[in-house]
Amino acid sequence: MTNTKIEFIDLKAQRRRLGARLDAAIGRVVDHGGYILGPEVAQLEQALADYAGARHAIGCANGTDAIALCLMAMNVRPGDAIIVPSFTFASTAEVVAWLGAKPVFAEVDERTFNLDPECFDNAYAAAIEAGLKPRGLIAVDLFGQPADYDRIEAYCASKDLFLIVDSAQAFGSVYKGRRSGTIGLFTTTSFFPAKPLGCYGDGGAIFTANDELAEVLRSLHIHGKGSDKYDNIRVGMNSRLDTLQAAILMEKLAIYDDEIAKRQDVARRYDEALKDVAITPLVMKDCLSVWAQYTLRVPAERRATFCNVLKEAGVPTAIYYPKSLHQQTAYRRYPVARGGLAVSERISAEVVSLPMHPYLDSSVQARIIDAARAALVPSAVPGE
Ligand SMILES: *Cc1c(COP(=O)(O)O)cnc(C)c1O
Repeated sequence: MTNTKIEFIDLKAQRRRLGARLDAAIGRVVDHGGYILGPEVAQLEQALADYAGARHAIGCANGTDAIALCLMAMNVRPGDAIIVPSFTFASTAEVVAWLGAKPVFAEVDERTFNLDPECFDNAYAAAIEAGLKPRGLIAVDLFGQPADYDRIEAYCASKDLFLIVDSAQAFGSVYKGRRSGTIGLFTTTSFFPAKPLGCYGDGGAIFTANDELAEVLRSLHIHGKGSDKYDNIRVGMNSRLDTLQAAILMEKLAIYDDEIAKRQDVARRYDEALKDVAITPLVMKDCLSVWAQYTLRVPAERRATFCNVLKEAGVPTAIYYPKSLHQQTAYRRYPVARGGLAVSERISAEVVSLPMHPYLDSSVQARIIDAARAALVPSAVPGE
């Protein structure tokens, strides 16, 4: 096995497991021809809602639109501020800017990479100073782990902010007995192929317990339709989940619990083998991560060497994210929490993610671990 090419995320392994079922599912859609909003879409929405324990699940075109649709449902507009973490993927802030509102960047906790509620007042103050009206907060379940919702919900309630949970990386995760999809006014997710539950293209979903808002979302994602398809009652967008993707996701959802369990094994093996040489990721008590990424922190000045040594050994790595959003060109002009975002800046220089997927067997993982240890402890001889 020593010559097996190591994949960062091995989608082909899942394909080998599910191949025949997926081909059959795709074949059924191609045969019945209901490519747009065919029966599989409603079936998947029900299956997703059941899985999460959510009241409504609404498919849409991708995880970015999912967040945008929630903001549209809340009539977010110019002059509004939405608090978002800076250490996240661009979508979280991008959609706020689409609507002419301003993302206000907040600090994260270096141990979990998720929002640090301790620092919310600094972000809130920055919004007020900028003359904005704080309306909502988008929490991100980064790398597969839920954010600190007891404290986030308490803060949102105290400031009358609505909460959107951007769970693009964490569908299936659990926060103190609550599954992703049941937290916040809305939870959004993504089925981009590399996410823990991925399809064969773009896809996304929104979850909410609110009947009225679910109706609004169902209208907004199809051009703002009313009961008469050609009398649109609001300005919406075209953001539907393809029937083909829904059919594929039905098959993948059926094995998702097993895959999540396998991801726990992979994470545990990394933890045990690396905790003495790098800062391994912390999962909060009573939480289940779905391990979208397994992300170490190494000293900033050694990260490039670490990646090179692993590359030489045939081990791919990735940096999520080399710059926090407030450090990126397009987002520099938006407000940043009072006192700055030193933690976000520091961890973006320290993080490095290792190959992570349910089909990473222990012999291949041992090669990754040996290479990582050799890179972090230059004197260590593998096997000694
Ligand atoms: C992937 C991702 C998104 C966007 O999902 P797409 O389906 O690619 O649009 C949003 N937020 C976070 C945190 C993500 O990782």
